[in-house]
Amino acid sequence: MKLKLRNEVVNRLIDIVGVDAVISDKSELVVYECDAYTMQKNLPSAVVLPGSVDEVVQVVLLCKKFNLPIIPRGAGTSLSGAVLAVDGGVMIALTRMNKILEVDPRNRRALVEAGCVNAWVTREASPHGLFFAPDPSSQSACTIGGNIATNSGGPHTLKNGVTTNHVLGYEMILPDGSIEWFGVKPDGGEDVEGYDFRGAAIGSEGMFGVVTRALVRLVKKPASFKTFLAVFDSVEQASCTVSDIIAEGIVPGALEMMDQVITQALEEAYKVGFPTDAGAVLIIELDGLSGGVKQQAGQVELICKRNKAREVRLAKDDYERNALWKCRKRAFGAVGRLSPNYVTQDGVVPRSKVPEIMRFIGVVSEKYNLCIPNVFHAGDGNIHPLILFDERNPDQVKKALLAGNDILTKCVALGGSVTGEHGIGAEKIDFMNKQFAKDDLEAMKKLRTVFDPEQRCNPHKMFPGAKRCAEFMVKKQASA
Ligand SMILES: Cc1cc2nc3c(=O)[nH]c(=O)nc-3n(C[C@H](O)[C@H](O)[C@H](O)COP(=O)(O)OP(=O)(O)OC[C@H]3O[C@@H](n4cnc5c(N)ncnc54)[C@H](O)[C@@H]3O)c2cc1C
Repeated sequence: MKLKLRNEVVNRLIDIVGVDAVISDKSELVVYECDAYTMQKNLPSAVVLPGSVDEVVQVVLLCKKFNLPIIPRGAGTSLSGAVLAVDGGVMIALTRMNKILEVDPRNRRALVEAGCVNAWVTREASPHGLFFAPDPSSQSACTIGGNIATNSGGPHTLKNGVTTNHVLGYEMILPDGSIEWFGVKPDGGEDVEGYDFRGAAIGSEGMFGVVTRALVRLVKKPASFKTFLAVFDSVEQASCTVSDIIAEGIVPGALEMMDQVITQALEEAYKVGFPTDAGAVLIIELDGLSGGVKQQAGQVELICKRNKAREVRLAKDDYERNALWKCRKRAFGAVGRLSPNYVTQDGVVPRSKVPEIMRFIGVVSEKYNLCIPNVFHAGDGNIHPLILFDERNPDQVKKALLAGNDILTKCVALGGSVTGEHGIGAEKIDFMNKQFAKDDLEAMKKLRTVFDPEQRCNPHKMFPGAKRCAEFMVKKQASA
C-alpha cells in the first residue's frame, strides 16, 4: 500500500477505534506477519482491534471505500497460513471482543463474542454440568471465530463431532458492511428457515466475512470416564490397535497417538512418567454411562493386549486423567525443545490405513533425513506429522516442503484428504487441483462470491492461482 494511502487509512482507523487499538508500526506489525505456519510471512498494512460490532462494521466499510483486503484474525494459531496478509491489507483482530454474553443452561447454549477463547466457554459452562465439545489442542488460546472459520476439530471430536456440529448460529459482517445472522437466532428456537447458510460458511477460512458473535451448543458432561495410556513397542502395534478398536464398533471419546520422540520431549518437559523407551503410546478415553464404559474398557484392554501392548495404565482419578490431557495438548509446544522450526501436516486417511501411512512417514523421514515425530487424532485417521527443520538452513526448508508434499500426496492416494481440521490456507493451495475436480472448484468460488463478490476478504487463500508471498516465491524458486 502506498505510504500516503496507508497513513490516511491508519488515521481513519484511529478515528473509529482509538489510537490504542491500531497497530501500524513495522516493529509491532511483525507479530502479525504469520500464524503458526511459519513457512510464509508478510506484514499486513495495519492491524485493528475493534471492541464492538459497530466498530467492525465501520472498519469493514472503510476497507470497502479504499478497496482494501480484509484479513479476519483470532488468536493466530492457524497451522496453514490462513491468516497470512499475502498482499498487505487491514487485519481485523477480534481478540478484544472476547466476552461470554450469556450461558443458557436450560436450552444448553451460550452466546459468545467471536474473540472468546475456546476453553473459556467450557470453563463457564462447567458449573452447570455442561461443556463445549470442540476442543482443539490449542484451546487455551484459539478463539471461537477462528474455530468457526476453520471448522476445528480436537481430541474429543471423534465422538462428539467438529465445530459445525456445535455452532447453532452466528453473526457475520459481510465485506459490504452488512450485518447478517446465519442459522439459529439467539432468541429463537432450533429451526432455521430457508437455506442453511450457517453450514456453508463454517470452514470458509475467513473468506466470507468477519464473524462477530456466535450461538454455540453446550453438551452434557459424560457420567463417567475411563482413560487409558496404552504403551507399545512400535508405532505399527499402536496403529493396528487404533483400527481394531474402531473395527470392533467402539467409538471412544478420544483416541490419540504419540510416538517415541513426542513422549520423550513431553517427559523431559513435564516429568509425568511417560515411558521414554516405548515406540508409541495411545491415550484412549471411553465416556458415557458407567455400565457401558466398564464393558468397553474390558474390550479395549483385550484389543491392546492382542496387539502386544506392554502396559495398559488406567488413570486412577481426575488428577491423573487431567495430567494425561495436559501433556497431550502441550505436545506441539514440547517439540520446541527439539528443533527451531517445525511444520505440522494435517492429512487424513481412512482409519484402516493408519498403519500404512505411519510406515510411509518413516520412509519419508529417512528419504529426506529429517526427524518427523507424530502426535495425532488417530481415531479420526487425522495424522499430524511434525516435520522438524531449521529455517536458517535452505536445504532443510526445501526438504521439509518436499517431505510434506510426499506425505499429503500419499494421503490422497490412500483415499484420504490433505486436511482434517487445519484448512487449506496459503499452505496447501497446490493440492486443491489434486483433491477436487475443476467444476467443484468453480462451484466453491461461486459460493464465495455470494458473500464476497469483490473477493477482498482474506484473499489469496485456498484456490489455485492465488498470489504467493514474495519471500515464499523466492524459496520455491530456490528449491526448484
Ligand atoms: C499447538 C496447536 C495445536 C492445534 N491443535 C488443533 C486441533 O487439535 N484441532 C484443530 O482443528 N486445530 C488445531 N490447531 C489449529 C488452530 O488452533 C485452529 O485452526 C483454530 O481454530 C484457529 O483459531 P484462531 O483463533 O487462532 O484463528 P486464526 O489462526 O487467527 O485464524 C484462522 C482462520 O480463521 C479466520 N478467522 C479468525 N477469526 C475469524 C472471525 N472472527 N471471522 C472470520 N474469520 C475468522 C482467519 O481469517 C483464518 O482464516 C492447533 C494449533 C496449534 C498452534
